[in-house]
Amino acid sequence: MRQFISKYKKPLSIIISFLIMASVLGWKISLIMIGIVSWHESGHLYASRKLGYRTDGFIMLPFIGGMSFSDISAATVYEKSIVYLAGPISGLVISIATFVLGVVLHNNYMFAVCLINSIMNMFNLIPLGGLDGGGFIQCIFSTIHPKINQWFKIFSCVALSTLFLIIHAPALLLMIGFSILDCGTKNPYYGYQFDFNKTMKHITAYFSIMTIYVIIIHYCPGLDLVFNVLK
Ligand SMILES: [Zn+2]
Repeated sequence: MRQFISKYKKPLSIIISFLIMASVLGWKISLIMIGIVSWHESGHLYASRKLGYRTDGFIMLPFIGGMSFSDISAATVYEKSIVYLAGPISGLVISIATFVLGVVLHNNYMFAVCLINSIMNMFNLIPLGGLDGGGFIQCIFSTIHPKINQWFKIFSCVALSTLFLIIHAPALLLMIGFSILDCGTKNPYYGYQFDFNKTMKHITAYFSIMTIYVIIIHYCPGLDLVFNVLK
């Protein structure tokens, strides 16, 4: 049974996630979200493989996104940072392509995919624990001073809990759980040498990706269009 789950975790988690999400959001949006998350996770896996590390697929988590598995424990902090950014970077391909197709073909479906993809990937870049942005920031902080990470983890728990009190999104509970667990773990990025040029390059990449998503979202037609098109 365990072997079966391990072998088929990807398709199983995709089917289960689709059924759960479709019952709440409808099948069209759920299908798009599954495509977007699969593409995003494949970006992380592609980067890990390119850097020479072993990968073991991903699982889909309903309403939250996905989780990819790669053995990057031996990777340098800068390599880990690249793997964290690879998901949102691969998402840019979809955002830019669907935005251009939306403009050229006057196609609202394209804008809908573009908007959902851009919002999901941009949210993922927010520097809080459990998100790619959080993982990225921890990598970069640890090159500046390893102790900052512990404070960052505590800050993440407080910020996510506050956010939960405001918007009551159940998905946040899982992120809070991950963040609390993370507080108890040893800093995996401890003791890396600060390389000014590399750190600056990575920070520039992070803000550039974020900026492109903000611009695309700004010029996309609004969320009401998405819900009208995908109703
Ligand atoms: Zn990711």
